[in-house]
Amino acid sequence: MRILFFCLTIVTIVSCNKPQAETPKPEQHAFAIAIHAGAGALKKGSYTPEEEALYHAKLKEAAQVGYDMLKRGDSATQVVVAVIKILEDSPLFNAGKGSVISNDGHIRMDASIMNGKTLDAGSINNVQTIKNPITAAKAVMEKSKYIMFTGAGAEAFAREQGIEFIDPSYFYTPRQVARWKEDKTATDEKTIHYVDSMLALQNGTTAWLPYELSLGTVGCAVKDKYGNLAAGTSTGGLMHKKFDRVGDSPVIGAGTYAYNKTCAISCTGTGEDFIKTVAAKTVSDMMEFKGMSLDEATHNMIHVRFKEITGDGGMVAVDANGQVSWQYNSDGMFRAFVNESGEITTAIY
Ligand code: ASP
Repeated sequence: MRILFFCLTIVTIVSCNKPQAETPKPEQHAFAIAIHAGAGALKKGSYTPEEEALYHAKLKEAAQVGYDMLKRGDSATQVVVAVIKILEDSPLFNAGKGSVISNDGHIRMDASIMNGKTLDAGSINNVQTIKNPITAAKAVMEKSKYIMFTGAGAEAFAREQGIEFIDPSYFYTPRQVARWKEDKTATDEKTIHYVDSMLALQNGTTAWLPYELSLGTVGCAVKDKYGNLAAGTSTGGLMHKKFDRVGDSPVIGAGTYAYNKTCAISCTGTGEDFIKTVAAKTVSDMMEFKGMSLDEATHNMIHVRFKEITGDGGMVAVDANGQVSWQYNSDGMFRAFVNESGEITTAIY
């Protein structure tokens, strides 16, 4: 008996002293930013090199602003708003100016933001006259005790907060009007007249742009110098949407999520697919409860889960170490990243 005990003790000591396999430490980045501007049928060749250059330039501009802010120590939520505002102001994307048009000829926009440190979030949907919906979402997060406001209520709240308003005609662009008109069965003469008059009213000329792509929602995931994460998303939703349909973009956990312990995520694609899978929060859960890396978790969502439901779209994300990840199962996704030394990468396909 004594001999057996002695042997066991020796075995234990030997095995304890055995050098442990080193788990590689994840690379740490002081700050990180990942931007998307929509995933969809972005087939190579749908754009001329000049048109592609327009997209790259706008993504680069947004990434540069985000990088400069992060470097000088601005917070993750400030950066999310600044970056998304630039993309909302551009007619190239389906958010703010350039948003898609609902079936009844009106433009209705959704946006959300989440702070990964506090889990506070703000979200608005179906707004029609707020120039930058992401600014209103941030106001909901910071100035109200609620998380989500809708339609006229969201606009009334934004007005109280001094958010910038604009005539609804501002959001109409020739390419979205053309795309909207393509579905000839979906609407009537009166509505067509309304849309045409909105387009005629808006000042400034918007260059004709290709309209093959059906998406173009914008979003951003950020880790700041203080280790805080944040994410935000802004969209006009889906072309010809009806009945005040709300997609994933303003739904916390579906299209947007941030949690300092795991990651910050913004999604784009068919919103219903992201709501069904609670996509952004599920990625965070896979990291928290399954111990997956950011890349494993985003890959699992977009290439495994989405396969099960024939889901479609993509996401960008950053984790608590400042690692960046992106995935999409469509032909392309407008995206941009900046590394700590300020090198910007933009891509479409
Ligand atoms: N996810 C958005 C929605 O369903 C659309 C998009 O990403 O383009 O409203």
